[in-house]
Amino acid sequence: MQIAKNKVVSIEYTLTDSAGSVLDSSSGQAPLAYLHGSGNIIPGLENALEGKSAGDSLKVVVPPEQAYGIHDAKLVQDVPRTAFGKTDVKPGMQFRAEGPNAGSRLIKIVSVKQDTIQIDANHPLAGQTLNFDVKVVSIRDASQEELDHGHVHGAGGHHH
Ligand code: ZN
Repeated sequence: MQIAKNKVVSIEYTLTDSAGSVLDSSSGQAPLAYLHGSGNIIPGLENALEGKSAGDSLKVVVPPEQAYGIHDAKLVQDVPRTAFGKTDVKPGMQFRAEGPNAGSRLIKIVSVKQDTIQIDANHPLAGQTLNFDVKVVSIRDASQEELDHGHVHGAGGHHH
């Protein structure tokens, strides 16, 4: 069986940045299971896995455009210090901010001045080229329920 749309794929992976630092890894955990062709994983990795078989290993270099996007300067903003109330804000800290639209966003503190705080609302991996070491562990057909939900159930997937 080969990886194609609507297959459930389990992978072991290690993600490193361009400096070789490990950002994420499935090592020591169950393999990651995802529904191929449903945008569960970043496009550059999903495309590279198309047509692969169980047991295949591959190295994938994913440019920012195929990963978490390029760094958007418009998402770096100065906000009044008062917006953080009494919180002792320091550069490098991260906050999860609830937006008016769907979902929450991770906000990173860039710098702290007397009256203003510079924040960066880009994805932490925006602008980064990502290197994946991937091994395909298994491939199976998705169930109708998984296709309806757009994600994997059971081992390595959603439990609900
Ligand atoms: Zn579900």
